[in-house]
Amino acid sequence: MTSHSHRAHSGNGQAQREEHSDSRGHVHVTRTEMAHEHAHRHVEEDMLSVEEAYQRVVSSFSPLDTETVPLVDSLGLVLAQDVHSPLDLPPLANSAMDGYAVRGGDISDTDPRSPRKLDVIGLIAAGQVSSQQVTSGTAIRIMTGAPIPSGADTVVPFEETDEVQRRNAGQTLDEIGILANLPLGSNVRPSGEDVISGELVLTAGTPIRAAEVGVLASLGLDVVAVRRRPVVAILATGDELSPAGTPLAPGKIYDSNSFSVAASVMACGGSPRLLGVARDNLEDLQAKLEKISGADLVITSAGVSKGDYDIVKDVLTQRGEMNFWSVRMRPAKPLAFGHLKGDEGPGTPLLGLPGNPVSAMVAFEMFARPAIRTMLGYRRLSRPKVEGILTGPIFNYDGRRVYARVEVAHKDGTYHASPAGPQGSNILTSMSRANGLAICPEDLPKKDTGETVEIIMLDWNEEVEV
Ligand code: AMP
Ligand code: MG
Repeated sequence: MTSHSHRAHSGNGQAQREEHSDSRGHVHVTRTEMAHEHAHRHVEEDMLSVEEAYQRVVSSFSPLDTETVPLVDSLGLVLAQDVHSPLDLPPLANSAMDGYAVRGGDISDTDPRSPRKLDVIGLIAAGQVSSQQVTSGTAIRIMTGAPIPSGADTVVPFEETDEVQRRNAGQTLDEIGILANLPLGSNVRPSGEDVISGELVLTAGTPIRAAEVGVLASLGLDVVAVRRRPVVAILATGDELSPAGTPLAPGKIYDSNSFSVAASVMACGGSPRLLGVARDNLEDLQAKLEKISGADLVITSAGVSKGDYDIVKDVLTQRGEMNFWSVRMRPAKPLAFGHLKGDEGPGTPLLGLPGNPVSAMVAFEMFARPAIRTMLGYRRLSRPKVEGILTGPIFNYDGRRVYARVEVAHKDGTYHASPAGPQGSNILTSMSRANGLAICPEDLPKKDTGETVEIIMLDWNEEVEV
């Protein structure tokens, strides 16, 4: 154990130095003079900007291969192929109302005071095709969605006939009086009104929501070609972690990162695979990393901050090409990213999130979610942003970009962002209260009450009336 950590420590020192020179060559940060000075005073020079770290992570992902899935499983995935319609929608001209199918010419001079009388020669329910012909002076009773019979071109709704009076008078409906003079073609939905056969209905790259599921089903498709759902292996690291559902021994805490990350993966369309907890020793971490085959992305938590968890860094460096970064953001400064070498190919990408529960979730938001959405084939990778007014201050102690947990509410036409409680990176309940992350830029020491802030909307929480 002692010899391990000693060896690991010197190994880590090496990796750190390499990373320093590496990042110097690559970072291009645009800053104002003031921000530059501020940065000099407060931050380490090897920090990557959020944009640079984002670019480095996201650029190493691309959409996964195409797979055909049952339509019911396609929600949240992205179409991999253009969809052309195999049919007209609706397939046949049909009635938009319950009423009477007539010839428009028969009712063109109708007057409510002298209803036009037509012989009712039949009835068509939805799903039936009538072989009867509507000739001058006749009508066929027709239900919504039923195909228009030949000879008819107009549907008169029940309300525009004397049907109720006839029923009340105990008369049969073998004759009907038309009360209204409706324009020819009224209440007829022409075939192909929505879609014509061969038409491009949905393009590759379209995210599948409930409406797209409906459109595809209306074309008769029960399977759909999509970008495959990424499999994301999730590994927590730390000697202090206990699984939920077991008694908590002294000094231990429950592993929340595995679960918040798994839930975040599911929420953005990935398929999580929980690998459990790796202890802070070489053997266990090695063993847990054996189980990543088939994963498109590995997400670890903890062990990426400086001076701690040398073993995690050492193992990752040994097993692949790993970079350990400091990102100019709060929370979530430490971040690891690289590839674990497999037997062939470029290896499996690994994103090492920081251990603190809020840091892990914010780093997931900023880096893992866009990576997963890229693999899913989404073109838009980031959450919607709004501008809002702060109802309490956000402090920036050390020249990093601050992502403050806020409750966003919409009142009198304006978004209001209220800090959602203590902002320590271990305070997970304030993440739970928040529905947005309000940004205080790197070069400002504070965003004050009443000031306008940019807010990343995490969700449009219906409970807080956005
Ligand atoms: P580290 O990055 O390993 O220094 O961890 C930073 C903090 O995050 C420590 O307080 C850890 O106990 C905590 N932590 C690490 N992993 C987890 C986890 N899976 N769930 C909850 N807290 C964690
Ligand atoms: Mg720790």
